[in-house]
Amino acid sequence: MLIYLPWINNYGYQRGGAMLGKRYEYDGQPLLKLTPAQLDIKRLIEAKLDSGQYQWEQVPCCVCGAGDLEALAAKDRYGFKMTVAVCRGCGLVQTNPRMNADAYTNFYQQHYRALYSPSQDMAAFFTTRRSKGATIFAFLKEALQSGGLVLEVGCASGGILHAFRERGCRVMGIDLDAEYVAYGRDQHGLDLRAAALDAFEPEERPNLVLYVHTLEHILDPLEELRRIRDLLPDDGLLYVEVPGVKYLHRSYEMDFLRYLQNAHVYHFSRTSLTNLLHKAGFSIVKSNEWVQVLARKSAPVDSTTSDYPAVARYLRRIELLRRVLPVSPQTLVATLRRTLRRLRGKQR
Ligand SMILES: [Zn+2]
Repeated sequence: MLIYLPWINNYGYQRGGAMLGKRYEYDGQPLLKLTPAQLDIKRLIEAKLDSGQYQWEQVPCCVCGAGDLEALAAKDRYGFKMTVAVCRGCGLVQTNPRMNADAYTNFYQQHYRALYSPSQDMAAFFTTRRSKGATIFAFLKEALQSGGLVLEVGCASGGILHAFRERGCRVMGIDLDAEYVAYGRDQHGLDLRAAALDAFEPEERPNLVLYVHTLEHILDPLEELRRIRDLLPDDGLLYVEVPGVKYLHRSYEMDFLRYLQNAHVYHFSRTSLTNLLHKAGFSIVKSNEWVQVLARKSAPVDSTTSDYPAVARYLRRIELLRRVLPVSPQTLVATLRRTLRRLRGKQR
């Protein structure tokens, strides 16, 4: 929970609808240190944007249907042109206008992995996802039926599902990346398929569906969630994890610009994701601002709890705190822990 600092709030209001600050204006410069290979990919993508091969589209807000957006940023951490705005109707932070479906398909097929994970080791990635799976299982286990079928959408090589299988679940996964899918199938004997959700017809209804850092990439998340609802039995569960836009005081070095990436179309908080889930026909079992949400199939509810202006105020407050603090609280805690470990080591 952030401390209420009145001068920071005033600062936020004085800026009104302006962007979060000068460094959010588009200048083409990356915040991250990119390798020469990543810079080459960045230039290729920018050429496709400049030539019109990659087209933009503006869409109504997927939660409230409004088009009243307040701009927050005009670039992402790679220095790509990207309009990020908060909806004044419901508070959903979104990239809008965003690249259209054809542009994103080409981007994912040709550039995504090389840009985002330039030196990825398949085995190391699988191990990381497997321990992530253990954490998710712990979050969900009270609600799980033993022996139930778990489906993960966007499973990559299936490390998360492997952790669920080790704990007694039957598992199945789909992902668009055929190389990841083949790795999980061949190396770990997992039931993974290279498929999109709209072309996928499982032989059995899953009891639980997982979306781990996937939903924020999807252009029409409401339609996606409605499809999942149709797939689930009446007592079916859904777990969604996305990077929380109101958790920056403990992540991304407290930097909204570091959080922004061109592959993410939506930037959810617990409230905005809850609004979307209600609309799609889910009720919340448990949730937090990380964001992790466990939801249950339910009747759709078309009522929205607005997260605006709370999320706009939060982001302005974080931006000012970032400027006045020499290091983020996250970095400070990590440094203190390292120092303590070193001192303990010397005492022995
Ligand atoms: Zn909205």
